[in-house]
Amino acid sequence: MCGIIAYIGSKQAKPLLVEGLKRLEYRGYDSAGIAVLDGHLSVCRAVGRVAELEEKLERTPGFEGTLGIAHTRWATHGGVTEANCHPHRDDRSGIALIHNGIIENYAALRTYLEEKGHVFTSETDTEVLAMLVGELYEGDLERAVKGALREVTGAYAIAVICEHEPDTLVVARKGSPLLVGVGSGEYVVASDASAIIAHTSQAFPLDDYNVVKMTRSGFRTSTINDAPVTPKLMQLEMDLEQIELGGFSHFMQKEIYEQPRVLRTTLRGRIDHNEGQVVLGGLASFAKELVKARRFILTAQGTALHAAMIGEYLLEDLAKISAEVEYGSEFRYRNPIIEENTVVVAVSQSGETADTLCALREAKDRGAMALGVVNVVGSSIARETDAGVYLRVGPEIGVASTKAFTGQVTVLTMIALYMARRRFMAPDVCARCLRHLDEIPEKIEKTLETDYRVRKVAERYVERDNWLFLGRGYNYPTALEGALKLKEISYIHAEGMPAAEMKHGPIALIDSGMPAVFIANHGRQYDKVMSNIAEVRSRGGHVIAVATEGTRRSRRWPRRCCTSPSARSI
Ligand code: GLU
Repeated sequence: MCGIIAYIGSKQAKPLLVEGLKRLEYRGYDSAGIAVLDGHLSVCRAVGRVAELEEKLERTPGFEGTLGIAHTRWATHGGVTEANCHPHRDDRSGIALIHNGIIENYAALRTYLEEKGHVFTSETDTEVLAMLVGELYEGDLERAVKGALREVTGAYAIAVICEHEPDTLVVARKGSPLLVGVGSGEYVVASDASAIIAHTSQAFPLDDYNVVKMTRSGFRTSTINDAPVTPKLMQLEMDLEQIELGGFSHFMQKEIYEQPRVLRTTLRGRIDHNEGQVVLGGLASFAKELVKARRFILTAQGTALHAAMIGEYLLEDLAKISAEVEYGSEFRYRNPIIEENTVVVAVSQSGETADTLCALREAKDRGAMALGVVNVVGSSIARETDAGVYLRVGPEIGVASTKAFTGQVTVLTMIALYMARRRFMAPDVCARCLRHLDEIPEKIEKTLETDYRVRKVAERYVERDNWLFLGRGYNYPTALEGALKLKEISYIHAEGMPAAEMKHGPIALIDSGMPAVFIANHGRQYDKVMSNIAEVRSRGGHVIAVATEGTRRSRRWPRRCCTSPSARSI
């Protein structure tokens, strides 16, 4: 799922759309394209970076209009070729369409449209939707789009324009995020706020099955079945500075270094040291129900799932409540059992993760109370939960989550302490935990000062193709997260697992070519982890240990290790 930007107004669309595509680049993509309407449709598409599209555009005359759509694609159906780039056009009615998501029934629809004589030029599911809109077009674009969307299953955020309607932009959403930015006499629609904020801070998110028709003089929102919808305008809470690099090489680096500052914001006003309690305004109206909770189900995907696993341990450890973690994608399809007084917690940075959102809805339908731990204010999960706690870590632009992960762990720690204190925990015990929590930003600051050592280790092992990440207790999910990061960012194979699991098979892989990263800070299972380290070393494996500061002095330590300042667990 990649980027969408669309514009209707009085400014030249081309530069605005290209700038918007650049703001969306951070999501990752493999190709890009643009269509501008000025009497007729001008379309330009290119495989590779937005810069390549821009170069191609410079060589191509036209593109003078004030209505247009643009897209960064991450191929799901059909290879990375120019023919498969968006926008896709129909072959009869002058339609151009961009799409994020997947049309699941595209094969059947394509057969139907081919029987009607339509000729396809790409392998994509998206072109099928463009053709279907064209097939149904009888002079009313909005109507044709709605008719087509009633026939499709799957996920979509789309923006559509038509040669015959130079004053109309139609957009719709199901399962993929889309935001309409409202300016004066102009609209900027995008798949995320970073592409809108330069133009307006007033926006509204689309709900599933909503369609918005915009002209230069106004807009109307309705469902695909024509029921009117009143959109909820909101103020976008980000400024341009937040989405600029500010001297860092890339967003992921910037966001790693932002952690101390943003986590202070996450904690601000939420810790009452005098009373030894956590103050979470977002849970206040729900406090009575929460005290009665007997079981927590935390649902998430990817990095958020790893944070949720830490949350599971925290809830059991601190609040003594039964907790479990479920992939949203599994939970939603497996007929889950929800007993009375079950709380489901959806954890997601964007608040739009489709599987997590569907799992949340499934749990709600079955009677669970719904909490959200999300970053993006006003996102789908934030809107559909009964209560929740925002991360307040600011926009996360880097595709691989960093500050949102630590934000999620911080918020889940606060939720666990909130529950513990309401159930049984004495104020002084809670106050002690909160003091440790309050020290975390400073400890992260000190840890970041060791970045040169991390760089050295990375340089030394850069050629290795396979890695293990190992930890126990709270550090087991951390190990999973470490492995995920290495895969996602470096395209290097890595596995994360509980340190003790290694000897049940994976140890066979260990030799001098496979580094094993141990998360080995001081804590309850430190001695056990030391035994696991010994096992790896006895097979000639290289150990990279992330450890508590000072530990290096111990003779038992392997030669190479990174130490971080004491991160004493609470
Ligand atoms: N399924 C569409 C394609 O493969 C859209 C992919 C995307 O979201 O970028 O072209």
